Amino acid sequence: MVDKNKAGQLPVVAVVGRPNVGKSTLFNRLIGRRRAIVSDEPGVTRDRKEGEALLRGHRVRLIDTAGLEEAAPETLFGRMRASSEQGIAQADLVLFCVDARSGIAPADAHFANWLRRQNRPVLLVANKAEGRAGVQGAYDAYSLGLGTPLAVSAEHGEGMADLMSVIAEHLPKHDTVEEEEAVKPLRMAIIGRPNAGKSTLLNALLGEERMITGPEAGLTRDAVSAWLEDENGPIEVVDTAGMRKRARVKAGLESVSVSASIEAMKMAEVVVLVLDADRGIDEQDLQIARLIEREGRACVLALNKWDMVTDRQATRRAISDRIEISLAQMRGIPVVTFSALTGEGVRRLLPTVRRASEVWNARVGTSDLNRWFEDALEKHQPPLVDGRRLKLRYITQVKSRPPTFVVFGTRAEQVPDSYKRYLVNGLRETFHLPGTPIRLQLRGSR
Ligand code: GDP
Ligand code: GDP
Repeated sequence: MVDKNKAGQLPVVAVVGRPNVGKSTLFNRLIGRRRAIVSDEPGVTRDRKEGEALLRGHRVRLIDTAGLEEAAPETLFGRMRASSEQGIAQADLVLFCVDARSGIAPADAHFANWLRRQNRPVLLVANKAEGRAGVQGAYDAYSLGLGTPLAVSAEHGEGMADLMSVIAEHLPKHDTVEEEEAVKPLRMAIIGRPNAGKSTLLNALLGEERMITGPEAGLTRDAVSAWLEDENGPIEVVDTAGMRKRARVKAGLESVSVSASIEAMKMAEVVVLVLDADRGIDEQDLQIARLIEREGRACVLALNKWDMVTDRQATRRAISDRIEISLAQMRGIPVVTFSALTGEGVRRLLPTVRRASEVWNARVGTSDLNRWFEDALEKHQPPLVDGRRLKLRYITQVKSRPPTFVVFGTRAEQVPDSYKRYLVNGLRETFHLPGTPIRLQLRGSR
């Protein structure tokens, strides 16, 4: 929820440029789903649109300075200037839009000269840059002397991910209070076998309006993503639908689900593994879960199509049992049941994802850790290797995301896997680290 007072302090980004270059299209693209909260403020020019956008986890107030459609060419620059002046005066960043298809017009050049004297940070956006003609036009915009033109196609959604990143980089640094507010988005991937209900789930989470902030599949490797927000801040959903398309081209149909899943999971912190609960869990699902573990991601198991399940208790138990047996490395993995189709239970998913991310980010204090460690060694001594007892001295957490620990000791590298598992299970239980991969390294010392 956006609180009005805070909204007033948001960095302001103004979109300016000639009529018809695509300012409104760009504005709508940047605002995305948030268009719903755009309001025509009284007293403001009828054609000026304002709205709030969420760009790479930063909230900004976006102003579209339109309303020049009737201008005669000879007065165009003057009118551009008049209508933009107010917007630019309050802007922290100006997006100067040109049309890469029609090329640079005299009014663009005049406006660029004037803009340079306004002492505002300016990003030059060459819109309509889809296709070859657009790319050439984008190069021509160098002549405006406003730095490297950012080639986008607002209409086709191309180049938007890069544009958003550059905008985010150019926003003014906030004071400390606001800095805390610029929460980093949680990156989440939704994966699972075809037909498990991933797209239906994404749509349920987004509401009916599908927002794609990234470029269309196939353009860049980085992020085809959708943005959500809950009370804890933004969540970026790495969209595997786009990745599926791309992987299909690359790898042929067979390996589609696996290669797309790996790609998505590499970009995510928390992976939601969607299962069709009515069909249960099978080897392919477990294989994906093992990949999640191998990639070191937090995992939430989503049992979808819960509306189709008749014996819910038995179904849940069967799936849990299978996981306990086959996925010891992910013990305690959180399970959420819902119906993406009816929406029932879907609201429980994001809080669970948040908790999974907290566990994944967890830091355990060194003294607590070593108190537990001494206990653990006492309860269950390290085994003998070649007739000699291994001496383990201390443990430390070297990183989180996922929690990673190092045990030091004499010949520690010879500790057998069974003893490692004992330690990992102990860490998991004692420090409440369910459902996240735990890394344990053993380092010997002379
Ligand atoms: P504004 O007057 O600057 O606000 O421009 P609009 O956003 O109204 O767009 C003007 C026209 O350009 C419309 O017909 C849009 O559909 C079209 N347009 C906007 N963005 C693009 C784009 O990326 N590529 C192409 N080919 N057309 C675009
Ligand atoms: P994806 O391939 O994983 O993206 O799966 P889709 O989202 O395309 O869903 C596959 C099919 O399952 C579609 O026919 C959906 O309508 C259906 N489906 C998805 N979620 C549910 C659910 O919760 N209950 C039921 N009964 N059907 C669902």
